[in-house]
Amino acid sequence: MMNFTELYSVAEAERKNAYAPYSGFKVGAALIAANEKGEEKLFTGCNVENSSYGACICAERTAAVKAVSEGYMKFRSVAVAGGTDKPRDNVMPCGICRQFLSEFASDDMSVTLKNGDSVVVWGFRELFAEPFTLK
Ligand SMILES: [Zn+2]
Repeated sequence: MMNFTELYSVAEAERKNAYAPYSGFKVGAALIAANEKGEEKLFTGCNVENSSYGACICAERTAAVKAVSEGYMKFRSVAVAGGTDKPRDNVMPCGICRQFLSEFASDDMSVTLKNGDSVVVWGFRELFAEPFTLK
């Protein structure tokens, strides 16, 4: 089992694959998700921009769709790395990603970010307490 620092390192390494020719802001994500049998697997994602700006997708959602498309629909933990020195690393998941992740988030899902040199771990439900839901 990977600890939060290790998970963050995977997210940081994934930044190299980001396609961000427009913003120049490369983001990486690392997501641990479980399938129906409870088996866990690590998925990575990066932001993928597009000349039609509205078609851009964030790193967290890239990782999320990779996981769901392979049957891993119970999200346990995600780390997001933007490679800045700003407080909280300035890569809090955006509103769209919070809603998207919420669909598959376990109740105790964690979100690992960085603040300066320190890894900071949030509870996902702390960041997104009241999602839109049809359930
Ligand atoms: Zn986002």
